[in-house]
Amino acid sequence: MSTSDPSAPDARRSVTVLGSTGSVGVNTVDLLLRNPGRFRVEALTGNRNVTLLAEQARRLRPQLAVVADPAGYLPLKEALSGAGIEVAAGREAVIEAAGRPAEVVMASIVGAAGLAPTLAAVRRGAIIGLANKECLVSAGDIMVAEVARCGARILPVDSEHSAIYQVFDFANADKVRSIVLTASGGPFRGRDRAAMASVSPAEAVAHPNWSMGAKISVDSATMMNKGLELIEAYHLFPVDQHQIEIVVHPQSVIHGMVTYADGSVLAQLGAPDMRTPIAVALAWPERLSAPVPKLDLTEIGRLTFEAPDEVLFPALRLARAALASGGSAPTILNAANEVAVHGFLAGRIGFLDIARVVEETLSAIPVRPLETLADVADIDSAAREMTEGYVAQSVPRAVSTG
Ligand code: MG
Repeated sequence: MSTSDPSAPDARRSVTVLGSTGSVGVNTVDLLLRNPGRFRVEALTGNRNVTLLAEQARRLRPQLAVVADPAGYLPLKEALSGAGIEVAAGREAVIEAAGRPAEVVMASIVGAAGLAPTLAAVRRGAIIGLANKECLVSAGDIMVAEVARCGARILPVDSEHSAIYQVFDFANADKVRSIVLTASGGPFRGRDRAAMASVSPAEAVAHPNWSMGAKISVDSATMMNKGLELIEAYHLFPVDQHQIEIVVHPQSVIHGMVTYADGSVLAQLGAPDMRTPIAVALAWPERLSAPVPKLDLTEIGRLTFEAPDEVLFPALRLARAALASGGSAPTILNAANEVAVHGFLAGRIGFLDIARVVEETLSAIPVRPLETLADVADIDSAAREMTEGYVAQSVPRAVSTG
C-alpha cells in the first residue's frame, strides 16, 4: 500500500469523500479500498454514523475524519484513538475538509447540506464527482459560474449524466443536436390516472431496476427525478433546454445518448450499478476496474423505448417550466417537491397531490434571480413553508385500517 522509499513522492491521486457513510459514499469507499495503489484519502466526512465512519477511516487511513453532527465528536475521537487520524465535527469542519487539497472530491452529501462544502471544493479548482442533486438543481447558476471562475471540473455521478458525459464530444459541442436522458418510467408506467390516485407509499418506493432510498424512489415514480435530472443536464452540458430529450426505456440498459448533426447517436450502456459512474469520476480521464456485473445483451434480448407521458406525469412539465423560468424557480420546485414527497410518505397527501402542491407552490412564489447560497437558502425555506401549508390543507389520503 505505501511506497517502499519513504522519500519518493506519492503518485497516488488524492481523494476526499464528502458523505462517505451514505449510499454513494459507501460505494466510493468500496472502490477506494479495492484500489489502494491508485488513491490516497485526504478526508472522509459523514453525517452521524460514527461507527461506520470510524471503520472506513481505520481502513482508508485519511488525514482527517469529520462527523457533521457535533454530538459525534467524542465517540469518533474515541473510536479513532491511536490511529493517527485528525478528528473534527460540525458543519464548518465539513466545509474545511472540502477545502483541503484533494485532487478529487466526491460530493455525495444528500440535500441542501451538500451545497456549501461542494462550493468550497469548487473554489479551490478541484475535480468534483457530483452526486448531490441540489448543487445543480437549486443552485445551478451559482455553481456553474464558480466552476468556470475557479477552473474546477464537475464529473456527474448521476448515471444518466455520467453516460452523456462519456459520449459528449465537447470539442464539437456545436454539432450536438440533442442529449437524451433515459428514464425507467418508474413502477407506474402504463397505469391510468385513476389507478395512480390510490397508490400507497409502499407501492411507490418499490423501484423495478435500481435499489434506492424512499425519497428518490418516489421521485422516480412521479418522474420528478427525471425532471430534476433535466435541470441538472442543462447546467452540465453546453446545450439549451430544447435540446434535452427524455425517452422512457424500461430496461435501464442505455443510460444516456448524444445525437449529432451528422446523424450519429452515441450511447453509453451498462448494468444499473452506481459503481460505474463513481469509478468514471474517480479515475477520469483514465478508467478503473469496478466489480460490476457484465452486461449481457443476449440475455436481455430486447430494448424498448417510448415517449414520456407528460399528462400522466406532470412533474416533467413542471420541471421544464421551472427551467424555462430560471432564477429561483428550480430551487422552489426542488424544495416543494421534497416537502410534498415527505407528506406523501407520511400518508398526509395522495400520490397525485405531490405534483399538485408543487405546482401550487411554483405559482405562488415570484421568481427572482439567485446570486448567493444565502439567496438559495431563503428561497428554499420560503418554498418549504408554502408547500407545508398546501400539504396541511389537503384532505388526508384514506389509510387502510385492515
Ligand atoms: Mg439518475
